[in-house]
Amino acid sequence: MAKFEGYKDIYVFVEQKNGTVAEVGYELISEARKLVASIPEMGYQVVGALLGSNITDKAQDVIAHGADKVIVVDDELLKDYSTQFYTDALTQIIKEFKPDSFLTGATVLGRDLAPRVAARINAGLTADATKIEIDTEKAKDGEALLLVTRPTFGGNLFGTIVCPDTRPQMATIRPKVFDMAPVDASRTGEVVSFAPKWETTEPEVTIDKVVEKIVEGVDITKANILVGAGRGAEGCLDLVEACAKELDGVVCATRAVVEDGYMDKALQVGQTGKTVRPSLYIACGISGAVQHVAGMEKSDMIIAINRDPQAEIFTIANMGFVGDVNEVLPLLVEEIKKAKA
Ligand code: FAD
Repeated sequence: MAKFEGYKDIYVFVEQKNGTVAEVGYELISEARKLVASIPEMGYQVVGALLGSNITDKAQDVIAHGADKVIVVDDELLKDYSTQFYTDALTQIIKEFKPDSFLTGATVLGRDLAPRVAARINAGLTADATKIEIDTEKAKDGEALLLVTRPTFGGNLFGTIVCPDTRPQMATIRPKVFDMAPVDASRTGEVVSFAPKWETTEPEVTIDKVVEKIVEGVDITKANILVGAGRGAEGCLDLVEACAKELDGVVCATRAVVEDGYMDKALQVGQTGKTVRPSLYIACGISGAVQHVAGMEKSDMIIAINRDPQAEIFTIANMGFVGDVNEVLPLLVEEIKKAKA
């Protein structure tokens, strides 16, 4: 008998709030499609786990984004996120359907839910991953071993972690790490309704009211054009802002700039900030430390301005200006204005 008899497929937790699915769920489904395609001999499917209240009609969207099957738990108890009921429901899904791998977005919700579920079922979990692969050699012997990579040792190294002894192999993965595949509304798939057997419907914690966080300013993860300020641009943040304004873009920053008190933490890009992938990222006075690059290297076009020709940022930039930001930025702004005129 195989070691993990009955365990199959790659499952993705489809996070939603008030019926709006978080993009990370679709990003993970797109990546899971690539993973199953890399091991055709296993005949695996991509399965979405969709939990909430009045959300069954969203299952077709999940299929259109690449799932072959969606397990839906539609229950009033799951209306708002609750650690207790979501953990109960997801644990039962895993026990019933036996996923070989289970992926969750490393969002606030995902970081709360996935470790609880992993602890309940005694599964291995790799948190905050930035890359996932499957060992295609082992797949030839019938094992779909998940290789999960995440930053380690203060972000100076990347470690690849495997969980060969337990199933499912669980991982939380950062939003915006993977592309979302184009939607195919004509895709068909199976929708399975699952009703958990609640041990208790008495909540351990009751929610009196949900207060939406007031987000001041813009969400840098949604910006199409970002102008990033590094320590080298701290003396000319007005120029950085002028450049962003001319391009209808948004300003963001390195951790150095945030720690020096010039910008809000919400604008920090990188390993301990946000992962962004705009169509254009202009790095101004940014050295290109691995922890910063981890959050922006997937931008479509990177333009770097740095006075040090040896700066690491130039190794990932598509285009670079060696020079003082105080001199280069005004010229750039002038050129943009001319191009727009
Ligand atoms: P510096 O490294 O000081 O670089 C400044 C650059 O500006 C230099 O290359 C210099 O040549 C250039 N320069 C100076 N003056 C000028 C000028 N007048 N004109 C043009 N160029 C000029 N960092 C992040 O950004 N995001 C993170 O999420 C993050 N997470 C981290 C997590 C951990 C665990 C650790 C240990 C570090 C993390 N860091 C993070 C910090 C990271 O290692 C770097 O220290 C930081 O990114 C450096 O920021 P910087 O490039 O702005 O500053």
